Amino acid sequence: MADASECGVKVMCRFRPLNESEITRGDKYIPKFRNDDTVLITGKSYVFDRVLAPNATQEHVYNTCAKQIVKDVLGGYNGTIFAYGQTSSGKTHTMEGKLHDSQLMGIISLHLTRDILDHIYSMDENLEFHIKVSYFEIYLDKIRDLLDVSKVNLAVHEDKNRVPYVKGCTERFVSSPEEVMDVIDEGKANRHVAVTNMNEHSSRSHSIFLISIKQENMETEKKLYGKLYLVDLAGSEKVSKTGAEGAVLDEAKNINKSLSALGNVISALAEGTKSHVPYRDSKMTRILQDSLGGNCRTTIIICCSPSVFNEAETKSTLMFGQRAK
Ligand code: ADP
Ligand code: MG
Repeated sequence: MADASECGVKVMCRFRPLNESEITRGDKYIPKFRNDDTVLITGKSYVFDRVLAPNATQEHVYNTCAKQIVKDVLGGYNGTIFAYGQTSSGKTHTMEGKLHDSQLMGIISLHLTRDILDHIYSMDENLEFHIKVSYFEIYLDKIRDLLDVSKVNLAVHEDKNRVPYVKGCTERFVSSPEEVMDVIDEGKANRHVAVTNMNEHSSRSHSIFLISIKQENMETEKKLYGKLYLVDLAGSEKVSKTGAEGAVLDEAKNINKSLSALGNVISALAEGTKSHVPYRDSKMTRILQDSLGGNCRTTIIICCSPSVFNEAETKSTLMFGQRAK
């Protein structure tokens, strides 16, 4: 198979610590870590670009998983960072973390916005910057604007350069890390308002944060565009065949479909397939089309629980990650 770094797909794997209920139940802690790229589960080893053990700090995760992509996006590339894993494996902790807490903030946080703004302030005065962000979710293949609750079913269109975008999605111009945090807070609050059970809902929808950066040299009029998608995917757990019916079953089928469409796109990219990358098989992969593969920077962070209780799901998550390599 192609070297992941050649085709721009990197796969990282992060294990969270045992949580309180796992500890109380006396669950066995199953992963064994080797070097910084291998994890063993009951004797079988899984190798990734990097494996992050439960003691990895948020800052370390940002530095290994995101820092370079952010740099590349400032250099005019597009990129996507995904968090994949079963519910409560640490996806939201990784992407978002605890806002306003310098130790526990995740990737979409001060680190990211600081890196972008530090870069901007260090550039020469002839450069003008426009940074804008959008925040939306995909639930049952419908796109809902998290910055405007009246927009509940947005469409994907293509611009004149055939670049896909979510038509009508709110865009906010930002100029400080605090403004980015405010946007996230606002989006999260809107998400809470519209749903009855937030935990269930967030495990069944994909949330997507987009940051677009335009740089323009006022002297030469040269322009540079880069954008970064930060995607907190729906939980990858299998809904048990018994018991799931009606709406729950529809949701489960829809999630399976969109996650496997994503898996197919990523493994086609990892194999170096140039022609038949099946972007059009899901709304999410259509939106991300110009930010996945090719000349783009893509990182998937596979999130796992260390408890024996979740062993089957953890193995299936690890296999998803292996397919992307
Ligand atoms: P998911 O988004 O995958 O459903 P969360 O990110 O919400 O999972 O994580 C579930 C719980 O575990 C949260 O309370 C979160 O704070 C905690 N958690 C997740 N990852 C870590 C970690 N690496 N270190 C400490 N706590 C974590
Ligand atoms: Mg979550």
